[in-house]
Amino acid sequence: MTDRRNGRTPEIRTCPYVKKCGGCRTIGQPYEETLRKKRAYVTKLLAPYGKVEGIAGMEDPYHYRNKVHAVFAHVWDGRRERNIAGIYREGTHKVVSVDSCLIEDGRAHPIIRDVLRLLPSFKWKVYDEDSGYGLIRHILIRTAHSTGQIMVVLVTASPMLPGKSHFVKELVRLHPEITTIVQNVNPKKTTMVLGERESVAYGKGYIEDELLGKTYRISAKSFYQINSLQTEVLYRKALEFAGLTGRERVVDAYCGIGTIALSAADRAAEVTGVELNAQAVRDAKWNAKRNGADNVQFLQGDAGRFLTEQVRSGKRADVIFMDPPRSGSTEEFLLAADAAGPKRIVYISCEPETLARDLAFLKNLGWKAVRIAAVDMFPFTEDIESICLLERVKP
Ligand code: SAH
Repeated sequence: MTDRRNGRTPEIRTCPYVKKCGGCRTIGQPYEETLRKKRAYVTKLLAPYGKVEGIAGMEDPYHYRNKVHAVFAHVWDGRRERNIAGIYREGTHKVVSVDSCLIEDGRAHPIIRDVLRLLPSFKWKVYDEDSGYGLIRHILIRTAHSTGQIMVVLVTASPMLPGKSHFVKELVRLHPEITTIVQNVNPKKTTMVLGERESVAYGKGYIEDELLGKTYRISAKSFYQINSLQTEVLYRKALEFAGLTGRERVVDAYCGIGTIALSAADRAAEVTGVELNAQAVRDAKWNAKRNGADNVQFLQGDAGRFLTEQVRSGKRADVIFMDPPRSGSTEEFLLAADAAGPKRIVYISCEPETLARDLAFLKNLGWKAVRIAAVDMFPFTEDIESICLLERVKP
């Protein structure tokens, strides 16, 4: 059975961009069916390691994405030249104009539409990927589910943005719901959206959101789970699996802005979070202070190297949370996790294939997946989030 909270069946909706976009391949199918397929997929893939208990779906599986990206392009549409904002057509660098999306937060597109409309009045040219000519490249919008705050990140090819303060004033007048605007500068010919440099054009330069009663600051470049409602479902499961009593020394590896570490802090003796992205670590430290968590520390660095050094210096961990990127963890990290002598490892994964690979490695080290569950963080896409509790079976 799929684990749905009210048993109501969400209506089926269709999207005009489905063939060109490729973002949500199963839109137009009954949601329950997509959940069944995801569950069957992870069940089969993870069968050698344990039984998948179920998949937690959403009551309303639409408009859940709190991070919305659009690329700008200047095109000839057969009649006239015009600016468009949208997505890359799947597998290409051709931009398809997209004016609405069934999975993105509905507050984003009206803002994108107005930015597009304002460009000519500021004489801002859209960047051309082939020639490298032009200024305005991308727009990124982050919305906070619980506080309603909205961040707009305008990615430009150069730091010079003549008329910036007028633009900001006009955009905020049109959309008073925007709480901060950041200019990010990306001068490189690259497929990466964000560049190194950024400057705050309006507001604080970050938004705040709440998860499980804690408040988090999120900067433009920090990782933040894109589906806030399901993140709470996932974290509750992670805390349940961890079985903390208040006495444990906990490690939160690949911790992002510290959301798992801080959710666990009230139930542990001490928590150490480790994360590679410096901006995310800054957010995490701020979040620890903001939430009055004085038993939590955050360090910047590679999770594998950090844990290896901890073990070398004789430090142990009782519970390890790990939530690596899609590429999964590393043998260095997994060996160190084993050597740190924890009672439990809670592995959160956004890529079942690398989870399976890492579970195989841990199995050889004497670890067994005693509980596995899936959470539908990304309805109508092919992505699946899994969570797994590992315990040592061999000494
Ligand atoms: N646990 C967090 C973040 C998970 S996403 C949350 O739930 O929000 C994975 C995170 O791992 C990202 O923030 C990414 O920057 C970080 N990361 C990637 N490679 C890493 C490495 N080698 N060492 C530490 N962190 C890494």
